Amino acid sequence: MPHHSLLDLALVRLDEAAGYLEVDPDVIEKLQYPRETTKVRLMIRMDDGSRKSFLAWRCRYDDTRGPTKGGIRFHPDSNEDEVETLAFWMMFKCAVMNLPYGGGKGAVCVDPRKLSKAELERLSRAYIQAFARIVGPDRDIPAPDVYTNAMIMGWMADEYSQIVGQASPAVITGKPIALGGSVGRNDATARGGYYLVKDLASVLGLEGKMRVAIQGFGNAGQFIASLLAADSHQIVAVSDSTGAVYAPEGLDINLLLQTKADGLPVSSTAGRHGHQLINADDLVTIDADLLVPAALESMIHEGNASHIKAKVILELANGPITPEADKILAEKNITVLPDILANAGGVTVSYFEWVQNKQGYAWTLDEVHERLRTIMVREGRAIFNITQEKHVTWRTAAYIHALARLASAIEAHGTQSFFTS
Ligand code: GLU
Repeated sequence: MPHHSLLDLALVRLDEAAGYLEVDPDVIEKLQYPRETTKVRLMIRMDDGSRKSFLAWRCRYDDTRGPTKGGIRFHPDSNEDEVETLAFWMMFKCAVMNLPYGGGKGAVCVDPRKLSKAELERLSRAYIQAFARIVGPDRDIPAPDVYTNAMIMGWMADEYSQIVGQASPAVITGKPIALGGSVGRNDATARGGYYLVKDLASVLGLEGKMRVAIQGFGNAGQFIASLLAADSHQIVAVSDSTGAVYAPEGLDINLLLQTKADGLPVSSTAGRHGHQLINADDLVTIDADLLVPAALESMIHEGNASHIKAKVILELANGPITPEADKILAEKNITVLPDILANAGGVTVSYFEWVQNKQGYAWTLDEVHERLRTIMVREGRAIFNITQEKHVTWRTAAYIHALARLASAIEAHGTQSFFTS
């Protein structure tokens, strides 16, 4: 079998959507390659006095619809292909939500769990030193992603302000509230998905009490567990990078949150409150109504998709399902609420944070929630309508919806008709 990059697989979805729209060939030519990816080597001093270097990237995939936007990931498996693919997904995600942004992403190849806090701060500041000319409040706006958080965004915003010699909070989102962060950004990714499922429950066949399995227990996984448990849905299985627990009558979410806050894996709760240890690979096949992948890419693939029992999959992770698995799930009539819609609450509240920073005026939590809910419901229903009109999956519908916006922006910038007529 030929080797496909992650970006090749992502582009399958662009091609599919293009088949349903009359798009100018200029559009596809423009969207199938990342516009610029910068790779650097960050050198920092470790606590023991030694120097260590880390590969890092920032990709600005396309800025037709506005400054590029997207998180920075710190992960030992990060690589250029992954960064470019994540930036491609951000471009589509911002178009799905009609945010005035293009797509970007960054990463450092590092296991941050192996760094001290002081080393982590030096690495975060080194990232901004290296990319200070690439990022900017009207150019490229980073945010948190896997294994980065508000504290790291705070260090980065501070470093940028020092370099440019003035306060510049709008250069980065997901900051601590004390440094210009927005209320409601911390749980926004999960909350967006939660509003979506709640609004569409009847068309998804998810009315009443749900059994939920959650893969990944970081920011998105923990907050979706809390939001759904508060509505008395049962969280029956949860995994993290080291293991998984299962309880047919529902897991104790407070126990799990406390365990993670103490820096322990979810598996350490086994034996308490009815929690049973299960194999992390089996989590996706648990008998549940809703499956929530909230970890990394390609976790649902040809090898396990046919064993999934959930009715609906809410993709809070980016790219958790491969195109081959998509086909299997469609044949099994499992509805997939795709990442570029389902997890777009995060970047939507990032947008709110950027707007507040530019205005110098902070919104209330109720305002943030209400505006997020309005946008999730609006775009979710628009995509549902496309699934009905064109008889396509939710993913294809979301790509059609976004591609139409991208195409009209590219065509508005373009001058092809001037040369051909
Ligand atoms: N990293 C998040 C995502 O993948 C948020 C990006 C942002 O807020 O800019 O959507």
